[in-house]
Amino acid sequence: MDLAARLKLEIDSRHDDLVALTQDLIRIPTLNPPGRHYLEICEYLADRLGARGFSTELIRAHDAPGDSERYPRWNLVARIEGGRPGECVHFNSHHDVVEIGHGWTRDPFGAEIEGDRIYGRGACDMKGGLAASVIAAEAFLAACPDFAGAIEVSATADEETGGYGGVAYLAAQGRFDPARVQHVIIPEPLHKDQICLGHRGVWWAEIETMGRIAHGSMPFLGDSAIRHMGAVLAEMEETLYPLLLGKRTEMPVIPEGARASTLNVNSIHGGEPEQEADYTGLPAPCVADRCRIVIDRRFLIEEDLTEVKAEITALMERVKVRRPTFRYEIRDLFEVQPSMTEHDAPVVRSTAAAIEAVLGREAAYVVSPGTYDQKHIDRIGRLKNCIAYGPGLLELAHQPDEWVGITDMADSAKVMALVLAELLAP
Ligand SMILES: [Zn+2]
Repeated sequence: MDLAARLKLEIDSRHDDLVALTQDLIRIPTLNPPGRHYLEICEYLADRLGARGFSTELIRAHDAPGDSERYPRWNLVARIEGGRPGECVHFNSHHDVVEIGHGWTRDPFGAEIEGDRIYGRGACDMKGGLAASVIAAEAFLAACPDFAGAIEVSATADEETGGYGGVAYLAAQGRFDPARVQHVIIPEPLHKDQICLGHRGVWWAEIETMGRIAHGSMPFLGDSAIRHMGAVLAEMEETLYPLLLGKRTEMPVIPEGARASTLNVNSIHGGEPEQEADYTGLPAPCVADRCRIVIDRRFLIEEDLTEVKAEITALMERVKVRRPTFRYEIRDLFEVQPSMTEHDAPVVRSTAAAIEAVLGREAAYVVSPGTYDQKHIDRIGRLKNCIAYGPGLLELAHQPDEWVGITDMADSAKVMALVLAELLAP
């Protein structure tokens, strides 16, 4: 029997193990924020992989954003060396999950099974992918013990809040140095037949307009920061949104709407602060002297971040021409450059071939509308040969009644095992 057929059998024989592992992971409620049970999930995986011959390291991202004695940012890196020299394939999954939110009809941490689905917060994003990669590695080790190179499996913190206590921290330590790791697969839920090559760029900024406070019965004595901001928003509607819609990328971003540049106004706050819920009085009559919005601008690989920022400054200046007392400030909050791996990168080619072998159809290539930890591997780690590939439907991420398909997990585990065979079999 050839190696591919043996790997498929190895994974089929681990069906119950795959399900149980996924359930165990979901039942550890690694909520972020604030960052609960990180040590527990890392120790769970260290025990499992350690028993199968991996050397394991628990790494705390001391002083990363969010790290504290109460909520330490723990990461696990497990590595197993083959008996001969070769390259290293690294599977990186984040172990944190977002808040539960409302609208669940199941226990969010119960890992209930119904038919082919396992339900729970993090089922698809991304404990299902983490479990699939562990099973893929274990099946490969069983079928091909004399492999070349090395396999690494990491479970990292804080992807949902920027990854600074997780992949960014590990990358800064040189753990994704191209001399140490040559191929990275991030099993985010992009679906079992799709290869995610990268993501769009991000710029978050806070824009503030300034006015002057006065009595609300004589607003002409003040200067309303809210009216100034209203003019900013009107200018966005008139000139900026049509401009953004006209910018189209060659990146295969999904969903289709995200192939244009986008801008979301995340929040708006102006004038008197909101009172506590138990305040029973009326608001005071004041002209707003401050108004702030937070914008979330997603940009394309064809765009330049300096130009993206200049667009907003130009918009503010256009408003200023029409409003003599208009004053404003723009503060940068966060930025990420777009990232896209080449179609002919080795990990892309191997995964595409494996998808065709397992699923009998051609792989689709996609780019994510939002970012994920690939940015740190690319920018800090300087490792380009990286993709996201894993089971689950992206639309279910962060939703109530999140689930992952058992068949999808098994299929993508087969794909991952075949990638290992392609890259590491002697
Ligand atoms: Zn995720």
